[in-house]
Amino acid sequence: MCTIGVVFSGDVTYVFKNRDLPETVKMDSPEIRKGKYKYLALPRPKGGIWFGVNENGIALTASDAHTTKTYPEQKNAGDLITSIYENIIANSSTLKEAEKIMVTSFKKQIKVPDMLIITDSKKASAYEYTPEKQIIQRKTKGAILRANSFLVLEGALERIKDSSSHLRHERAKQMLSGKTSLADIKKTLRDHKNGPAENSICRHGKEESEYTTQYSVIAEIKDKTINIYYIANKNPCAGTYKKITLKRA
Ligand SMILES: [Zn+2]
Repeated sequence: MCTIGVVFSGDVTYVFKNRDLPETVKMDSPEIRKGKYKYLALPRPKGGIWFGVNENGIALTASDAHTTKTYPEQKNAGDLITSIYENIIANSSTLKEAEKIMVTSFKKQIKVPDMLIITDSKKASAYEYTPEKQIIQRKTKGAILRANSFLVLEGALERIKDSSSHLRHERAKQMLSGKTSLADIKKTLRDHKNGPAENSICRHGKEESEYTTQYSVIAEIKDKTINIYYIANKNPCAGTYKKITLKRA
């Protein structure tokens, strides 16, 4: 249950995610990996990545999709999905190549809904996926944002049944309207409007089983370098972003 997005800011592109989980999961710092291309990976302990950006400036951020239809559980869906994410980032030099891997791999392997945004420095593609129907929304300026609701594809939960997702998306949209600096994005990811609780972007579950933001990450894609800023294993309001850099190809 996350808040994700891409923001175009002149010559710089920002890609971000607040990762919210119901149980405490210890997550590693970003690391540099090498596939066909070098990339900065936010690794998943079981394999695959949950966020990444490569030396060609192709980045990926993703979020669970809540839908009205209930899908049968797919064994190892999480592992399959995060290995597709890694395949996209390890092997794409253009957004077109990234889209091709995404669309063919999801259709072939995934039987549950999902939502991701992939981007280069000029264009972002938000992919809303169910096994029966998929849609790609493309944007070349401003921001493209998601919480856990589809915005284009039918089948999203209505507001009353998923108020957290609707409120976090609306708040992110409001805060990032015309405001596109790194500081604006950090401020958004630490925001407590409608909370601090389950409805705020910096999410604070009251009970142990309630979703809490456990990781915050921002990729800054520039002409010559890529920086990842991250706060690991705590709420972003309670930490300072650390930085790791990768040179562009
Ligand atoms: Zn907070």
